[in-house]
Amino acid sequence: MENDLKSVLAECGFGFKKKFGQNFITDKNLLSCIVAQAGVESGDTVIEIGCGAGTLTRAIAERAKKVIAFEIDTSLQPVLSKTLAGVENAEVVFKDFLKVNLSELEKEIGEYSVVANLPYYVTTPLIMKLLEESKSCKSLTVMVQEEVALRLCAKENTPDYGAITAVIALRARAEIIKKVPRTMFMPRPNVDSAVVKLTVEDGRIAVNDKELYKKVVHTAFLSRRKTLENNLVNSFKITREQAQNLLTACNIDLKARGETLSPQAFASLADELKNIL
Ligand code: SAM
Repeated sequence: MENDLKSVLAECGFGFKKKFGQNFITDKNLLSCIVAQAGVESGDTVIEIGCGAGTLTRAIAERAKKVIAFEIDTSLQPVLSKTLAGVENAEVVFKDFLKVNLSELEKEIGEYSVVANLPYYVTTPLIMKLLEESKSCKSLTVMVQEEVALRLCAKENTPDYGAITAVIALRARAEIIKKVPRTMFMPRPNVDSAVVKLTVEDGRIAVNDKELYKKVVHTAFLSRRKTLENNLVNSFKITREQAQNLLTACNIDLKARGETLSPQAFASLADELKNIL
């Protein structure tokens, strides 16, 4: 398949663009494994972000009812008209997915899942857009850099645990479903990747004010070496005594650092903090 694709790309005069994070997958087994692990079924609508030369799009289309694939690079148009010829249930939309009005799109398509080999330079904004704006997205199965995958799925009190881990936990359960070596991509990137599945579970963390939760999380990781108490005092302009009372009310050690708090503990802290702000 790799050689077939290379000749189509050459025929169409296509040149890979680093600025768009273009690293394509051609291995059929890997492609069908991603779609199977995503749990795509015959009645499903799937959104793909960044369809590249359409290899993953085709694999999704083989299992799903419909795939709507967004692609920022219009120079892929001649390539896709060849590689997706005859694939009736795939629609390609040439648009930057970050600029897509998700609520408008959701009115048209109803419930859907996302399956994508994400462009590395916008992985986090794309995942956050979906988790923050979507109302009818069931899951996101996405190829990301291995380092990002470890961060998304980390447990508290580990070096990979960060603000993004705790923010994502608010709405989704994250698991690494497959590690993918750099040799599987064309052109070959400098790092390995992994496929992560984020399953949307609304209300998995009960918190009164989601925006305040996010602020507390970001505050906690502002300066990893400082205690949570110091970070709270500096960011929320509360007194040291108030910060200590907050931590005590949430059963959090006064010397604790942000990285030791579970998402549930961040939620309790945000709820207590809301009472005094
Ligand atoms: N899905 C293909 C595959 O697996 O071979 C291509 C994956 S490649 C890592 C990422 C693709 O996303 C590229 O084709 C790139 O042009 C496209 N892309 C980059 N930024 C985008 C954006 N903001 N919206 C939509 N597509 C984007």
